[in-house]
Amino acid sequence: MKMNRRDFVRAAGAATAVGLIGVPHLALGAGNKVVVVGGGTAGATVAKYIKRLDPSIEVTVVEPNPVYYTCYFSNEVLSGERTLDSLRVAYDGLKALGITMVQDSAESIDAAKKVVKTGGGKELPYDRCVVAPGVELLFEKIEGHSEASSQTLTHAWKAGEQTKILRGQLEAMADGGTVVITSPPNPYRCPPGPYERASQIAIYLKAHKPKSKIIILDSKSQFSKQGLFTQAWEKFFPGMIEWRPGPDAAVVKVNAKGMTAETSFGDEIKADVLNVIPPQRAGKIAQVAGLADDKGWCPVDAKTFESSLAKGIHVIGDACIAGAMPKSAYSANSQAKVCAGAVVAMLNGKEVGVPSYVNTCYSIAGPEWGISVAGVYKLAADGKIAEVPGAGGLTPMDAPDWAHKREVEYAHSWYKNIIQDSFM
Ligand SMILES: Cc1cc2nc3c(=O)[nH]c(=O)nc-3n(C[C@H](O)[C@H](O)[C@H](O)COP(=O)(O)OP(=O)(O)OC[C@H]3O[C@@H](n4cnc5c(N)ncnc54)[C@H](O)[C@@H]3O)c2cc1C
Repeated sequence: MKMNRRDFVRAAGAATAVGLIGVPHLALGAGNKVVVVGGGTAGATVAKYIKRLDPSIEVTVVEPNPVYYTCYFSNEVLSGERTLDSLRVAYDGLKALGITMVQDSAESIDAAKKVVKTGGGKELPYDRCVVAPGVELLFEKIEGHSEASSQTLTHAWKAGEQTKILRGQLEAMADGGTVVITSPPNPYRCPPGPYERASQIAIYLKAHKPKSKIIILDSKSQFSKQGLFTQAWEKFFPGMIEWRPGPDAAVVKVNAKGMTAETSFGDEIKADVLNVIPPQRAGKIAQVAGLADDKGWCPVDAKTFESSLAKGIHVIGDACIAGAMPKSAYSANSQAKVCAGAVVAMLNGKEVGVPSYVNTCYSIAGPEWGISVAGVYKLAADGKIAEVPGAGGLTPMDAPDWAHKREVEYAHSWYKNIIQDSFM
């Protein structure tokens, strides 16, 4: 059959329309939509970098809190080195970039219809969704514990009100009192965090209540930067911090009225301040949306952070399974940038680049005495995130005091940089 000019134009139009079905927003010129669940370090960073890489994408962040309190450096509030207010970050920087903040909580995600539903009744359609809800604290894994009793048996593993309560308890405690910190099983948010916490509390106690004691009841038989922490404790707080290793010292039962913790071995320890850091898993929305595996964490494609369990949804930060990377704010920020690049490439029909990832965890283990562990990571042949041998490292055990002082300066400088990079 011979086609005249009018038939050709009609046929070409129909063919174009068929070709557009797979990528309607992009080809029709409408903005793609990304909905980010969680405005913490991972969520804020991914929102910011998606918007910067492609300003035509409509980026919406769903976050119930009007401001964010960083967990990082919250241990310094316990020592009195900084105020809780200094950890407060507003969302003005994200809003100024043209990102929409929805102050609400995501209640469900319909991966088939590509809609996030919020507790306040909003339905937010998306082309791609990024889920960054942090961790859920599993109080009920410890007999006698509950979210309600965490008002007394604080966790302070989500910063804000909890940090304030714990600081108040330390201030109210008499000299000669016992502070008990329970450290959770792996994996959990911030592997060196409980030990930095012991150091920071010891700084306060040594100055104000020197007859007091800190006992760490651990679920694990070893911990992050152990040699360096132990060195700091012997140097600055001799006899003040006692670490009891797991599995015997793992806390299985608590009593908020009696202020006691019972270990798996059967010991009962009486505390004046009992800081219970519960076992953890990916934030609740990840469980509800079917993004978590049977251990409670979210498997992802490490190149894009797209969920292995739900297409079109990416999971980053503490909630995801990120191979050798620890659950830290630095990791969350690094993963968010990789994810942002992948999301923008996928929405624009481009090839996703080969990522690399980075992390450094600083801990201030004594007065003006900082330590760190750093890692550079790559996408390994098995698809997992693996550490690049020789590219990272630990503060040397024989580092001079000036080097430890410099690590404190690096740590504080890192704090300013990560806030700027993630939220501004
Ligand atoms: C004491 C302590 C010290 C630490 N120190 C360091 C450090 O020195 N360096 C470092 O790199 N890391 C540190 N960390 C770890 C760091 O805080 C976390 O790894 C980091 O916050 C993870 O970021 P995230 O975005 O995954 O989770 P978060 O920062 O917890 O953000 C999650 C956000 O999601 C929101 N959210 C949850 N559910 C929903 C929902 N259904 N709908 C909408 N929003 C939701 C929450 O409100 C929250 O704002 C420390 C942690 C602790 C506890």
